[in-house]
Amino acid sequence: MNIIEKIRLKKQVVRAVIYARFSSDNQREESIEAQLRAIKDYANKNNLIVVNEYIDKAKSATTDNRPQFLQMIADSKEEIFDLVLVHKLDRFARNRQDSIGYRMELKRHGVSLISVLEYLDDESPESLILESILEAMAEYYSKNLAREVHKGMKENALKGQHTGGHPPLGYDVNPQTKMLVINPKEAEVVKLIFNLYTQGKGYGAVIDELNLRNYRTKNGKHFAHGSLSGIIRNEKYIGLYIFNKSAAKDVDGIRHGGSKDESEIIKVEGVVPPIISKETFQLAQEIIKKRVRGDSRKIPKHIYVLSGKIICGECHGAFIGHSRYAGRSKSLQVAYRCSVRKNKHMCVNKEVRREYIEKIALRKLAEIVYDEAFISQLVKVYGNYQLGKNAELVKRREDLKENIIQFSKEIDNLLILASKVSSEALANKLTELEHLKIQSEAEYQRLCNNNNLKEVTEDMIKDSFKIVKQLFEASDLRSCKKLIELYVEKVVIYRDEAIVLYRLHPDMVHSCYEILLNRSSGTLADTTSPNDCVGEPSEVVLRGSKRYSFTSSRKKLQIQVNNCVLQLFCTP
Ligand SMILES: [Zn+2]
Repeated sequence: MNIIEKIRLKKQVVRAVIYARFSSDNQREESIEAQLRAIKDYANKNNLIVVNEYIDKAKSATTDNRPQFLQMIADSKEEIFDLVLVHKLDRFARNRQDSIGYRMELKRHGVSLISVLEYLDDESPESLILESILEAMAEYYSKNLAREVHKGMKENALKGQHTGGHPPLGYDVNPQTKMLVINPKEAEVVKLIFNLYTQGKGYGAVIDELNLRNYRTKNGKHFAHGSLSGIIRNEKYIGLYIFNKSAAKDVDGIRHGGSKDESEIIKVEGVVPPIISKETFQLAQEIIKKRVRGDSRKIPKHIYVLSGKIICGECHGAFIGHSRYAGRSKSLQVAYRCSVRKNKHMCVNKEVRREYIEKIALRKLAEIVYDEAFISQLVKVYGNYQLGKNAELVKRREDLKENIIQFSKEIDNLLILASKVSSEALANKLTELEHLKIQSEAEYQRLCNNNNLKEVTEDMIKDSFKIVKQLFEASDLRSCKKLIELYVEKVVIYRDEAIVLYRLHPDMVHSCYEILLNRSSGTLADTTSPNDCVGEPSEVVLRGSKRYSFTSSRKKLQIQVNNCVLQLFCTP
């Protein structure tokens, strides 16, 4: 049984999409029309319903510009088709690894690939063997390559040869032997750094001294905390060659910092000429340890949960977390302030107290989600908003929905009839209706995939709010972060007021619930009217001209918090 028969047995109808690719610089290639004709012939012969076509026209066969291909892969997740038809396999992917990756992706969503010309059937034993061989080869290539590279680097390290990149300050690489040799001028700088540091000078003082003498790093830059700490911790300066220290990359190829297990680290002594004595180096390490401990006691770590979401309404710069000791009592003040103002003194905006803005953002969210009546209002307003923006498409979506219901009804009726009398006309009519229904469903799905047209129902909002409530009830810092990450779209701080924009459901792409807060009044002034709570954030954020009258005395804000969860931010 081939794959088409198998799907038909399971689902009665087989839904397919066409993928075709055409590169204009290849003369020998079949034209896009010829490819499509061959595929459609195949689909007709095998009684497949074609629900969509994806066509890429690339300028050159080698460039990887395949937006439609990627769209097809993305759509495969929606389970609106069972098969992808291509003219030839080389239309599908550019190389083996690529092909395997995407075929696995399709398979995960129950979609098979058929090449019309090669009659390569996804489920045939030959194809299964071929697939597993290709997969194994791809894995072998990538692993073996990494192993060879690593082996070479390890051998170099054991010989004390430099394994690549810049040598550290104080050393050069001998181009013949690839060994590190001392650069006398730079070595003096290294010695000076260690001397100053072990005399008890902090990083700042050492940097000042180095700048005064016009010394630069190996890259020709001014010294900074990072480069200095790298030098003071570098064991090469006592003649130790260290290799394989950084922890491996994870499956996504990202290094997360940290070190490998001691046993895996290769340390070779006597291949690098030392610059610093072991005693001085040891002393420096002890100072580092003491300093680190001291520092962590002095500056409490603050978590700024709104980071990345909070911006300046006056200059559109980012607001960033900042803490300092201020006032007569030198009490700790934790706030967000405009980064432009901090760095360039170019913005007039004032900072906003962290606990104030975080509490408001979360409290308002709590008020929204615990208000039962709000949901239906939100759905209505959002529906009207969509209608205003995309009236035609919304109508098409509604029509399709009705069509699908209508087709289902007719099919049900015919099925009842078919159970009593059997006739070819009836069977044909049934098939025709099935096709129409499937095509409507596919188009409906495609429309709904358009972000502006995602349908949002009361049930969907209720589900979404259920998650919000769970997070509130969990009442820990992680949940608060999650709440803000998922539901707060943006916080805009103006001189006189603040705006919090919420995205109350992930599918409500352009819609937010907006609250305006008066900065001065001492009480929370919510000036939003419930009828215009939906709008596009970009319009709101950049409106600029809309300001509210305001007197500029800043009183201490006291906010009544009735939900205990929101007390959280009072105690770090
Ligand atoms: Zn600013």
